[in-house]
Order: sequence, then structure tokens, then C-alpha cells
Amino acid sequence: MVMRYISTRGDSPALTFTEILLGGLAPDGGLYLPETYPQFSAGELEAMRGMNYRELAYAVLSRFADDIPDEDLRVIIDKTYTPEVYCNVRSDESAADITPLHTLEPGLHLLCLSNGPTLAFKDMAMQLLGNLFEYVLERAGQDLNILGATSGDTGSAAEYAMRGKHGIQVFMLSPHNKMSRFQTAQMFSLQDRNIHNIAVNGVFDDCQDIVKAVSNDHAFKAKYKIGAVNSINWGRVAAQVVYYFKGYFAATHDNDQQVSFSVPSGNFGNVCAGHIARMMGLPIKHLIVATNENDVLDEFFKSGVYRPRVSAQTYHTSSPSMDISKASNFERFVADLTGRDGARLRALWTLVDQGGSFDLNDGEEFAKVADYGMLSGSSNHASRMETIRDTWEKYGVMIDTHTADGLKVGLEYFEPGVPMIVLETALPAKFEDAIQEALGRAPERPASMANLEDLPQRYTVMDADVDAVKQFVVSHLND
Ligand SMILES: *Cc1c(COP(=O)(O)O)cnc(C)c1O
Repeated sequence: MVMRYISTRGDSPALTFTEILLGGLAPDGGLYLPETYPQFSAGELEAMRGMNYRELAYAVLSRFADDIPDEDLRVIIDKTYTPEVYCNVRSDESAADITPLHTLEPGLHLLCLSNGPTLAFKDMAMQLLGNLFEYVLERAGQDLNILGATSGDTGSAAEYAMRGKHGIQVFMLSPHNKMSRFQTAQMFSLQDRNIHNIAVNGVFDDCQDIVKAVSNDHAFKAKYKIGAVNSINWGRVAAQVVYYFKGYFAATHDNDQQVSFSVPSGNFGNVCAGHIARMMGLPIKHLIVATNENDVLDEFFKSGVYRPRVSAQTYHTSSPSMDISKASNFERFVADLTGRDGARLRALWTLVDQGGSFDLNDGEEFAKVADYGMLSGSSNHASRMETIRDTWEKYGVMIDTHTADGLKVGLEYFEPGVPMIVLETALPAKFEDAIQEALGRAPERPASMANLEDLPQRYTVMDADVDAVKQFVVSHLND
């Protein structure tokens, strides 16, 4: 039977993988989830232990994307996860691993997810999405206009995945002057005619609110074939499930062992994929949600209270890709906490959308957080700097600021006998100023990116105005 996807709010028709792939929110405002999570038996997990990345990706994704013919899915996966694409590895790592496991000391590992074209983990999912989108659109004879919001890494990953793709235009909103010079140059230097950079006067949440507003205008969305690639896209979450399996098998000798993952978190997409891997049968003990000073998720996992901030209360930090005040993927996790109670989700997010908060201690739901193995902690600029310095001095390994948040919080929960796998979500080259501050030296960068900031840039500055953005999209459709 084909996998069906339902909305967290329980009020949208059940659809297949390719039917939800190109869209964003469900029509009822919720997020799509598979009706049930596929399960791997002990025997299947045993067979997966010997698999390379592409084989693992097929084993996992064929369960989710089961309305794509097997041989087509294999071709898409095989051309996505190649050593040529994930080539930006440290000198002692193998690009053939796609996501190499770098051992800092026995039991403490980095899972290197940032060796793709934009040096951040978002390439892992986005490169797949680019190839899936092209395949599905070609098959249907359609085209698509992607509207997205980014605080840095999503936008560049999306643009590098979609550049030059037939039938696809990308309109990417980013907060003006709030990304690192490197991130800005990476995106704005793209000269592909199907890529449009819009620098919004505001913060990331303003950008995300515009995307949500446009997506909720169903007539506009349908007429102009608007799609999304931000972290609520189900295809991205599904792609991210794969590397939890890869990391698990690399860090363990047999499937009786458990591991914990520490995940630098913002929109809750990455750690949501870890939760799903666990629900599918992967022996994960703890999933550790690591935040920066924007600690709305840490507050929830400690107290049961989800209290999104307003954008004016979002701190601009030295791990900027985690500077969020509402976690857009969090609703998927709360759906599982509430036993997929759509009415309850609608009630909770009505509070959130009115600028309020909710407390899951009111029901029995918060107790389930522990059953799901969730823990959390937060970091700040001083501990980030200290972690980068310690890691460099102790292991000779340079890590970026986001990974440092993950390592700092992961170490707080490090326990003997349980391997701790910290997800490396970006390479230090992306955040030169912070590395310079921490270590007094610049990070190495791939030779191909040596003069990135000197390249001519192409972008449009706009106010945080939904109608103006719509206008821009419409007037650039046939470029
Ligand atoms: C996007 C991003 C994160 C946060 O990931 P979420 O899936 O939004 O939780 C962390 N670190 C880096 C470098 C990122 O780009």
C-alpha cells in the first residue's frame, strides 16, 4: 500500500509523497506527516549496517517516496550523493563516505554533514530535493516558482541545488545585512537567471512570515505555482533521516548498542528527522536539542512551555543560522506528542499565531518527551568561543559556531558507554569572523571559494511587505 501523508491539523486530504513534494504547508495550515512511520525490523537493520550512503538512502527513502518507481528513485539518489558533490572534506576524511564520522576521542564523534557545495548540512537534503523536483516536474510537464526564507544556509543550499534547473525559478528572501559576508557572497554572486535574491529590511522571522502569508493565499499560490523549500518541506525532513542511520552504524559495532545525537537546532527540522529515525527503530538513546541564546526550544524541553518570541526579541548571535524565535518544524513533533490529535494542534497553534504560548503540562503530553529520549541545553557566545578553542587545542579540529553549540550541550549529557554523535552542521570557513575571534586565525577554505567576496553580486533590497514581494515574483516569472 502506498504511504499517505496527512496534515498535523487533521483537516486536509491524505496525499502521496510526490503529491506533497512540491508544496509547503497543507491547505489547513498544518504540516504533512506520514500516516504512520515505516518500521525497520532487527533483520533489516542488520542488513543496513553494511550499506554505503547511497544504499542507505535508498533503504530509507524508498519507504517514504514509494510512489516513485524504484529504478527512478535509485537514479535520483545515485546522482545526488556522490563524492564529487560532497568533496569539501578534511584532509583525513573520505569523500566517499558522503557523511564521514570524525572521532574526537573514543565515544565522542562529529558526523560531518557539511562537505557539500555550500559547506552546511542543508545541502544533504536540498541537493536531493533539486533532483526530485526536476524529476517530478518533468514527468508532469509543469514548472514551479520556489519562494523561500533563509537566515543564510537554507537559501544558499536551495540556490545551489536549483540553479540552472529547467522549469524552476527561485525567489529567496533573506534578512538584509544579517548574514555573514561569506554567506551573502555565496548567494548573491550566483548569476543564474533562475535565481532571485531578495534582501528584506528585517530579521529572518519577517522573511518567514512573508513566505507563510504567500503560501496561505491559496489562489495566488495556485495561479503562480508557488512551492517551498524551507525546512517544513517533507522531502527535506525525509532526506535528513538517512544520515542518522549512517552515523549510527559508523559509531557502533552491533545493533544492541545505543547512541545519542546532539543536534544544533533552530527550526527543529534536523532533530525532527532524528526523532523520526528513532521512531523507525534506530536505537537512539537521547536526542539532544542544542540551541544558542535563542532558547525557545530549550525552554520547552525543560519546562513543557512553548513560548515563541516575537521577531524583535530574536537575538542576532554568532551562530546565526539558529537565530529563530519560532521553530517551524516543531509542530510535527508536537503532533506525535499529542497522539496526532488535529483538533488539539489547531487549538495550540491558534494560541501561537495570536502571539501566545502553550503549556503541555496541562495534558499528559509533556511526560512523553522523556519517552522520546529528548533532552536540551543552550549555549552563548562565550561558551561557543571556548568550545571552538578547546576543540582546536585538544583535538586539532576546527569547528564552526553552530557545531560548537552542539558539542557544548552534547558534552553536558555525555555518558560512559553511549557514543555521543554531534552533528556538524557547517564548516568553519562559513563563519570566518567568529573563528578569527576564537582562534586568532582564519579557517581554511576550499580553493574554489578563495575569491568569493570579490565576485559581482546580484540582489534586490525590499521592505517586509507581502504585497511587494508578490508583485516582484509576478513581474519576474518569465525572466
Ligand atoms: C539550519 C541550520 C541549523 C538549524 O537546523 P534546523 O533544522 O533549523 O533546526 C543549525 N546549524 C546550521 C549551520 C544551519 O544551517
